[in-house]
Amino acid sequence: METIIAASQNRGKIKEMEAITKEFGMQIISRGEAGVADIDITEDGATFEENSLKKAREIMKLCGKATIADDSGVEVDALGGEPGIFSARYAGAECDDKKNRDKLLKEMEGVPLEKRTARFVSVISMAFPSGSEITARGECEGHIAFEERGAGGFGYDSLFIPIGHGKTFAELKPEEKNAISHRANALKLLRVNLERQNV
Ligand code: IMP
Repeated sequence: METIIAASQNRGKIKEMEAITKEFGMQIISRGEAGVADIDITEDGATFEENSLKKAREIMKLCGKATIADDSGVEVDALGGEPGIFSARYAGAECDDKKNRDKLLKEMEGVPLEKRTARFVSVISMAFPSGSEITARGECEGHIAFEERGAGGFGYDSLFIPIGHGKTFAELKPEEKNAISHRANALKLLRVNLERQNV
């Protein structure tokens, strides 16, 4: 398969997508490496699917090559599914990963263990110059920790304990996270859909 351009600018996401898709025989390169202009894409969709497809389409139009995009986030049951599609901007305009995690911990103050259930969601899309498009959703169930733990990963990793594990994503080795994560599940399904649709 030809080289695929990643629409994301998030190093953490790209690293995981590269590691997982390498096993499928795909080669992903960042849009910077592909010489695509540094543009901001407004994520104004109402779903992970809409935002993911929008990112893949817009970057594909700029580079003229097959493009892959990930729109992802964490849905927390005690917060009615928030931050969800707003995960990247949870703490407001000036937010960063640390401020987003601090806000999540604050919102979860006093919530007991059994009510801290949550899931990570990743929707991966591909857009092709032929006009073909494909999407796949992956989820990973778990719960929100009472405090940050672990130094690995990115984003909300140090607050998320996947089901069946006593460790946060940030405490797991990258290959352990990549075996069970929402992103890995989405990419596995994407692979199946690609083969089915023969694109
Ligand atoms: P977006 O997909 O660029 O809109 O942003 C995704 C948001 O969810 C960012 O805040 C990420 O840090 C967070 N996120 C998505 N996937 C993961 C993950 O695997 N680990 C930790 N945080 C994640």
